Amino acid sequence: MGDADWDVVVIGAGPGGGTAALHCARLGLRTLILEEHKEIGVPVHCGECLSEIAVQNLEIELPEEVISLHVKGIRVLFPNNVEKKLTESGYVLEKHLFEQWLIDEAVKEGATFKPSHKVKGLNKNFQLKNQFSNWEITGKGDLFPVTTKIIIDASGVAGITSRILNNSNKIEVISGYQYEMIEVENDKYLDFYIWPKYAPEGYVWMIPKKNRRANVGLVTTKKSEKIKSLDSFIEDTYLSEKKKIDPVWKKSGMKIKPFGGTIPISGPRNNTIDDGLIMIGDAAGFTSPLFEGGSHLAMKSGKFAAEVCKEALQKNSFSKNDLSKYETLWKKEFPPYHKILKGKKALYDLTDDELAIMAACMPDEMNGMSIFTKIGVGLKIMIKSPKLIFKKRVISVLLSFGYSRAKFYGW
Ligand SMILES: Cc1cc2nc3c(=O)[nH]c(=O)nc-3n(C[C@H](O)[C@H](O)[C@H](O)COP(=O)(O)OP(=O)(O)OC[C@H]3O[C@@H](n4cnc5c(N)ncnc54)[C@H](O)[C@@H]3O)c2cc1C
Repeated sequence: MGDADWDVVVIGAGPGGGTAALHCARLGLRTLILEEHKEIGVPVHCGECLSEIAVQNLEIELPEEVISLHVKGIRVLFPNNVEKKLTESGYVLEKHLFEQWLIDEAVKEGATFKPSHKVKGLNKNFQLKNQFSNWEITGKGDLFPVTTKIIIDASGVAGITSRILNNSNKIEVISGYQYEMIEVENDKYLDFYIWPKYAPEGYVWMIPKKNRRANVGLVTTKKSEKIKSLDSFIEDTYLSEKKKIDPVWKKSGMKIKPFGGTIPISGPRNNTIDDGLIMIGDAAGFTSPLFEGGSHLAMKSGKFAAEVCKEALQKNSFSKNDLSKYETLWKKEFPPYHKILKGKKALYDLTDDELAIMAACMPDEMNGMSIFTKIGVGLKIMIKSPKLIFKKRVISVLLSFGYSRAKFYGW
């Protein structure tokens, strides 16, 4: 294989890119991280929660300064005031500080970080006999062009490599926006409202932060109405008395505007590797489809990518075939997307009353339900409304709630 400036170039300094770079550097690979923005993690496009299970699974020790609040779990609120808890501990982060910390850690391990470097072009170099040699990356920034043996695409929903190379299917996205608010009391639960009135085919959240701050936002497929719906939700609930503020990372403006972005919702891309290329995180379509958490998946896929890069570079062979272990690893580890997507579709098919009936049959605490409890829930629903079981596929909804827990990479 021909030589190159770098063993690995990671595109994007989000949680996925930071984790991939950290592990690549730890494994002794010459690693460069390219980030289009001047500042890491800004603008924040995340509700900022990460479960304790994720932290353990990723073997990281979060420094206190990146943690905004230690939380107890999620409370799901259904129409007609039915509430259910999913108690599993975790964190609300100061996400931009968390992402900065991850990159600092990668740099301490030997990675090089270049902000204000936007990737715009990719050129595949071959040796004789059409054998892949390396990539030349071009873009806006002093360091370009650079050559690398392997690219880890961690560019988020932009999916820059698949956009340029057209080597994968398109993914569906949903848009999510939130305000930061203050004077919001909390009992350390994240509130997720499945209230179709405000968030058709989505949900509304109140994610508490320290000093009575909170992220209040929603995701919905009704793109054109998202801000109006979020404002109406705030106006119609206890939040109407609370104040919206600009987050610390944002320059104060005349008018406080919501912030956010788009999230992949159709499951993984049909192709997450190419010659000398691995896609991770949102760039690969890895988000938990029901509640759209993606940081845990992005970071785990970043770790897998680093391990596969190390092995391939050791063998000095990094064609698409040599990187196929990456797909084996994530397919074995990540939750069954088709089941979650099926359940999500069935969930959006339910009316407010049907949602309330289903929820009323569930135990107050949804974590750690035994098989007997689950059967009991099924029976209760069948007695109250057989149509929900036989026509509205409510069992698949319940399954998809189950697969949205932290141990299945829900958050
Ligand atoms: C409103 C909202 C709320 C969310 N809430 C949560 C939550 O609470 N918990 C959770 O787990 N997930 C949440 N998510 C999803 C989560 O934010 C993403 O899944 C996660 O950030 C994905 O990480 P990533 O590293 O793959 O991509 P990103 O975090 O998107 O990072 C990609 C990086 O690549 C950079 N980049 C893009 N293109 C280029 C280029 N051409 N050249 C150089 N750099 C480039 C970007 O600037 C960015 O820094 C939320 C998403 C949204 C939109």
